[in-house]
Amino acid sequence: MAQPDGTRRRLLRVAASLRVATAGIPLLGLARRAFAVAPASRVRPGDPAWPAADQWKQLADQVGGALVKVRSPFDECIAAPTGDACTQLLKKTAKNPYALGDDVALTQTFGWVDAWKSSPSVYAVAARNTADVVAAVNFARQNAVRLVVKGGGHSYQGTSNAADSLLVWTRRMNAVTLHDAFVAQGCAASAAPVRAVSVGAGAIWAHVYDAVTTKAGGYVQGGGCLTVGVAGLIQSGGFGSFSKNYGLAAASLLEAEVVTADGEVRIANACSHPDLFWALKGGGGGSFGVVTRLTLRVHPLPEDFGAVNMTIKAASPTAFRKLVGLIVDFCAEHLVGPHWGEQIRFFPRDVLGIAMVFQGLTRGQAQAVWRPFMDAVDAGGDEWKVEFSLLKIVSTSARDFFAPTFIKRTLGFISRDDRPGAPPTNVFWPGDQGQAGQFLHGYSSTWLPAALLQPVRRAALADALFAASRHWRVSLHLNKGLAGAPAAALAAARDTATNPAVLDAFCLAILGAEEQPAYPGVAGHEPDVAAARLHRQAIGRAAGELRKLVPSAGSYVAESDYFEADWRNAFWGANYARLLAVKDRYDPEGLFFVHHGAGSERWSEGGFARVS
Ligand SMILES: Cc1cc2nc3c(=O)[nH]c(=O)nc-3n(C[C@H](O)[C@H](O)[C@H](O)COP(=O)(O)OP(=O)(O)OC[C@H]3O[C@@H](n4cnc5c(N)ncnc54)[C@H](O)[C@@H]3O)c2cc1C
Repeated sequence: MAQPDGTRRRLLRVAASLRVATAGIPLLGLARRAFAVAPASRVRPGDPAWPAADQWKQLADQVGGALVKVRSPFDECIAAPTGDACTQLLKKTAKNPYALGDDVALTQTFGWVDAWKSSPSVYAVAARNTADVVAAVNFARQNAVRLVVKGGGHSYQGTSNAADSLLVWTRRMNAVTLHDAFVAQGCAASAAPVRAVSVGAGAIWAHVYDAVTTKAGGYVQGGGCLTVGVAGLIQSGGFGSFSKNYGLAAASLLEAEVVTADGEVRIANACSHPDLFWALKGGGGGSFGVVTRLTLRVHPLPEDFGAVNMTIKAASPTAFRKLVGLIVDFCAEHLVGPHWGEQIRFFPRDVLGIAMVFQGLTRGQAQAVWRPFMDAVDAGGDEWKVEFSLLKIVSTSARDFFAPTFIKRTLGFISRDDRPGAPPTNVFWPGDQGQAGQFLHGYSSTWLPAALLQPVRRAALADALFAASRHWRVSLHLNKGLAGAPAAALAAARDTATNPAVLDAFCLAILGAEEQPAYPGVAGHEPDVAAARLHRQAIGRAAGELRKLVPSAGSYVAESDYFEADWRNAFWGANYARLLAVKDRYDPEGLFFVHHGAGSERWSEGGFARVS
């Protein structure tokens, strides 16, 4: 067919930036045509092959006006740091995770010193439906444009933003639909109907919990942070406060609708594209396609959820080391099981923090569990002092847990989006607000095997925790390691791409440092680079104390060090080879690129030039 002159010229220019596909890559028969050529590099604005205005116009027409030119509010901030717009951005928007999530140009984390800074795409498709996503994927592939996908925007690694790119933004695809008896497509012969919930890829957990728990009395395993996106968390593996009972969030995935790199819409489940389905369960967001809809199992809701909060200050480092030994013993004997989740924290100034939750126990039962520990603390006399004991152990009806009831708001247990007209279901935990608009200095996570809790190894663990706490604060997230979980939760987690280290771990040890808010170039709000580097080193030393106990340490992909050198092994362990095979099958030319994602080793940092 004859091409109009302009189109032909552009096609020739794009062809010049492409090279023939690498021999030997196994292509799906149906994908062969779409992947006839592989990009050696991607185009940037100003390059001769960057799509012309009429091509963008064609895309805009295809997506019914959902194509938007993206402009960062930080441009104004950099130009006028004391102006009203900048003040509003830094004092209000940056502290409200919903306001951040509603801005196409922003991400929840503003950047990471020496790693990345949040940068808007050139254009975004604010997708309303799957067809919009297909149009964006086809456009990016045909024009060798860098593609990036954003849902809730919570990536610490900065994988949902990229300068000089086209963004697929799923925020508007947020429908939530409950099913009494769901069977995945094509699975009628092998699977019984189950209670389930289907959610659009742009939905966030607060809204899913509202529909499933508050309104319908069920439980779906999602994230602890209420403003995290569903699609991003499921592809990370995903942990919530009660994962020690319900398992990985990804393990509850029954089916996903995905737009793959060839522009095809595929249904992935145990019976259809099972390899893709497996990879979506913990294989890392933004690497295998654009997920447009997910269906998750709904579990029965227990009667009660509750929390234990206290802070204990030791009188000296020696007393603190004894306290660390005490909590390690108590943890090994009482806390590694389905009822318990969240954190035990060790602070440099000889402070122990307990911020735990429980499910399936009454308040009285939880108090009985903690009595031996409290008695031991009391028996310590002047060595230890409980500093914060207001409402030490509380519980609530599980159905009210995520609801912004008057009492919970008054006591500061839950906060609401304070923008005029914001829906009352826009809620978040006050603790997570500390991460909105943050600029990261350093981060590290390590799965600690339950074997460290054996009586003969506990002293070494306590020594390592104490030594680490001399450098930086350490939080043990008991809900992010599955040792002690029910057999069914373990079996389901084994059938995901998440590093199998999670199965034997009693917790994930997390260390992080950040400032909030900060953004390079905004006078008075520049990140403190010197402090950041010192903090990163201190975190490295602290994590090093723990990693002496765990030589080939696993780390949780979504909460990890940007600079993790051994990332393939750390994030996925023995599963990486299989993950790469799925990547080669569904995205052989690497349209989808994220930092330290499957197949990213074949691209330059940033994903613009192919290196192998
Ligand atoms: C404050 C905070 C609290 C957190 N709490 C928890 C927690 O309790 N438990 C936990 O397990 N993790 C937690 N995380 C980590 C979080 O789960 C991951 O970063 C997750 O990937 C975020 O998903 P998102 O959609 O919000 O983020 P995004 O940044 O939008 O996406 C994350 C990644 O997934 C990709 N992606 C997003 N949507 C799609 C899609 N539809 N199709 C394909 N790829 C997609 C993006 O390209 C990106 O690579 C937390 C992070 C933050 C910042």
